[in-house]
Amino acid sequence: MYDDDWERCVSFHGHACPGLAMGYRAALYGLESLGIPKSRARDEEIVCISENEACGVDAIQLLTGCTVGKGNLLFLPLGKIAYTFFDRSTGKGVRIVSRPFDRNEDREKAMRHILTAKAEDLFENKPPQTVVPEKARLFLSVQCDECGESCREDRARLHEGKVLCLHCFKPYDRG
Ligand SMILES: [Zn+2]
Ligand SMILES: [Zn+2]
Repeated sequence: MYDDDWERCVSFHGHACPGLAMGYRAALYGLESLGIPKSRARDEEIVCISENEACGVDAIQLLTGCTVGKGNLLFLPLGKIAYTFFDRSTGKGVRIVSRPFDRNEDREKAMRHILTAKAEDLFENKPPQTVVPEKARLFLSVQCDECGESCREDRARLHEGKVLCLHCFKPYDRG
């Protein structure tokens, strides 16, 4: 319908929807704002912090190469249609924030509008609210003395001299 990138996003996500369209436009606008050509878009130097966990994130993953598994897609679930993109190689960052829009609009019409409007009309282009996140670290694993399962060392707790995973550790609520 629009271009190959959009079609790829739709097939990855499973359906076409206004939320996916928002993510698609935000990803392209973010890359463009940082001067990152599409050829570099699978680069691990690109980092995205998404402020929601909704449909649009699938387009972000496909177009920027930022994925949960690689550790360069992070979530700050504030329920905002806003995405911060960083380029570690230049230190530049940008926060792409959706402008307010009519949520009662017909979905098909809304999607068409999102896919065709000027990026500046859809989003504000702001400086990041945070510094670029630390690169994904490698952690040692420890084995839980209770259930025997292994977990990341920094996620374990100590209780009466035992190493416990967070399934087995009972939090102390009195502070
Ligand atoms: Zn969707
Ligand atoms: Zn355990």
